[in-house]
Amino acid sequence: MIQAQESQTIKGSINKMTDGKVLVTGAGGFIGGHLVEYLKNKGAKEIVAIDKKPYDQWYQVHDYADNRVSDLQYLENCNDAVKGVDWVYNLAADMGGMGFIENNKALCMLSVLINTHMLEAARHADVSRFFYASSACVYNGEKQQDVNNPGLKEEDAYPALAEDGYGWEKLFSERMCRHFEEDFNITCRVARFHNVYGPFGTYDGGREKAPAAMCRKVINAKLTGDHNIEIWGDGEQTRSFMYIDDCTNGIDKIMESHIDFPINLGSDEMVSINQLVSIVEDIAGITLDRHYKLDAPKGVRGRSSDNTLIKKELDWAPNISLREGMEKTYAWIYDQMTAKATV
Ligand code: NAD
Repeated sequence: MIQAQESQTIKGSINKMTDGKVLVTGAGGFIGGHLVEYLKNKGAKEIVAIDKKPYDQWYQVHDYADNRVSDLQYLENCNDAVKGVDWVYNLAADMGGMGFIENNKALCMLSVLINTHMLEAARHADVSRFFYASSACVYNGEKQQDVNNPGLKEEDAYPALAEDGYGWEKLFSERMCRHFEEDFNITCRVARFHNVYGPFGTYDGGREKAPAAMCRKVINAKLTGDHNIEIWGDGEQTRSFMYIDDCTNGIDKIMESHIDFPINLGSDEMVSINQLVSIVEDIAGITLDRHYKLDAPKGVRGRSSDNTLIKKELDWAPNISLREGMEKTYAWIYDQMTAKATV
C-alpha cells in the first residue's frame, strides 16, 4: 500500500472548501446530486455543477448552483469547467450496477478520458484540491471468492486483478491521481466507494444496483399482486451497502484530510443478497417466491469494506444501518413508481 505522508505544498491557495469555488462533476447523477446539497449545507459559497445529461434527466437540480450541461470527456470542456475553480470533486463516470458494467466494459473504460482530462485541466488552472471517486471494483478478484469475506483492506488492490473494464479504469485513474500529485503537486484525494444507495438514484433501466433493484422488484410485486421475485445468482453472494448521507460526509472528511492514498469509504455491515431481499420484504410487509437466475451477472462472491484505516485516520464510520437506509430508499422508490403509475 502507498504509505500516508504529510501533504505536500498545496497547489493554488485555498485550503478550505468554504473559502473558494467548488466544482462537482457528475452532478446530475446520484452521488453528485447529493454532494452538491451537502456542500451547500456546509457553507460552500459558489458551486459549479456539471453533467453531460440534459437537465430533465438529472436526479436533482439545485437552483443555487451554477448548473451546466457539458461532456467532460473532452479536454476543452474540462478547461472551461475548471475556470476559477479551487476544489474539484470528480464524480462523472459511465457506470451502473453489475448488469451494466459486465456488459459495457469499453464504455466504462472510456471514463478514463474524463479523469485524465479533468486532472490535466485542473493542474493548469491551479486547482488546489482534486477528489476522485474510485470503487471497490479495483480490488483483486481472487480475494473476493469467499462469501465470508472479512472485508477488503486497502492493500488488497495489489497484485492487481481488478473487475474487468470498470475496475481497471478506476485503478488506472487512481494512479493518475497519485502521479499528478507527485509530479505536478496538485493535492489529490481518492475514495474507494463500496455500493452506495439511497433516494434520487436509478432504480430501473439497467444501470441500477442491487438495493434499488430489490426495492423496485418488491414494490412491483406489491402493486401487481404477482408475488414472484427474480434474484441474480444464488443469492448467497455477500456485499455491504453504504447509505448516501454516510457517503457525502465521508467524501468531505477525506477531501479535507491528509490522506494521500486511496482509502475505503463503505459500510462493513455485510449481508447476503438473500438477506437484503428479506429486509425489503419486511419493509414492504410481504413474502415473495424467490427464483434464482444463475446465469445472470452476479459479480464477485463476497465483498465488504474493511474500515480499520478510515476509522483510525479520520474517525469515520457509517452512521446509518442498512435497515434504516433501506426504509428511506424504499419509500422514495415507492413514491416514484406509484406517481408514474398514476400519470
Ligand atoms: P451516476 O451514474 O448516478 O452518476 C454519474 C454521472 O456522471 C451521470 O449523471 C452521468 O451522466 C455523468 N457523466 C458520465 N459521463 C460524463 C461525461 N463525459 N461528462 C459529464 N458527465 C458525465 O453514478 P453515481 O452512483 O452517482 O456514481 C458517482 C461516482 O462514484 C462514479 O465515478 C462512480 O464510478 C463512483 N462509484 C459509485 C458507486 C455507487 O455505488 N454508486 C460505487 C463505486 C464508485
